[in-house]
Amino acid sequence: MTDDSALSTTCHAAGDGRLRHGAALKFFWGPMDCGKSTMALQMNYNHARQGRRGLVLTRIDRSLGPKVTSRIGLAHDAIEVTDDLDLVELVRSKWAAGVGVDYLICDEACFYGEQHIEQMVELVDCYDVDVFAFGLASDFRSVLFPAARRLFELADSVERIQVEVLCWCGRAGALNARVVNGVVARSGEQVVIGDTASDADVRYQVLCRRHFMAGELGSVAPQPALPGM
Ligand SMILES: [Zn+2]
Repeated sequence: MTDDSALSTTCHAAGDGRLRHGAALKFFWGPMDCGKSTMALQMNYNHARQGRRGLVLTRIDRSLGPKVTSRIGLAHDAIEVTDDLDLVELVRSKWAAGVGVDYLICDEACFYGEQHIEQMVELVDCYDVDVFAFGLASDFRSVLFPAARRLFELADSVERIQVEVLCWCGRAGALNARVVNGVVARSGEQVVIGDTASDADVRYQVLCRRHFMAGELGSVAPQPALPGM
């Protein structure tokens, strides 16, 4: 990890620009099902146990509510990040209300706006608040989400989550395919809520690069039984 920032942000908040505690913006990314939300909640737990105070945020969680949920059953109430939510103002309002905030856990950060990433940078550099962001890197076309790209550009550290998700062929899963009526979609809206259940009309499946490119979903993944097939 490096604490250097290439930004020339002007901090209007406090301090003389000297390094204080060295807060950092860390981005943890990986394909679906690699345990990002689980790790986000574990991170929150670890920090809270040390007496640090944090906020948990999310956007478009699979629960479709203001919660961070993980596929292995963990859940935590969360603040929904909307377009007009300013993360700096959020933290300042908590402080004004006497609520300490030492860090933010930002799940599903790939769905945030680019402005939110810049607000995270301001929180780190000007307010000494740690920000831990978790999310996908790329969409169903294998193109970076704008917020993920901004995180790659600005984060102090970027880590690929090492819990390995496998393609049906046994290779490491790398890309998030959108499967619409059984076919890998190549165009459409960047964000469409789907499921990983195999019988959904719109679902997502992690594939290796080879099978993402080929659009081959394999026969190992349980497919819906279709009449005549
Ligand atoms: Zn494969």
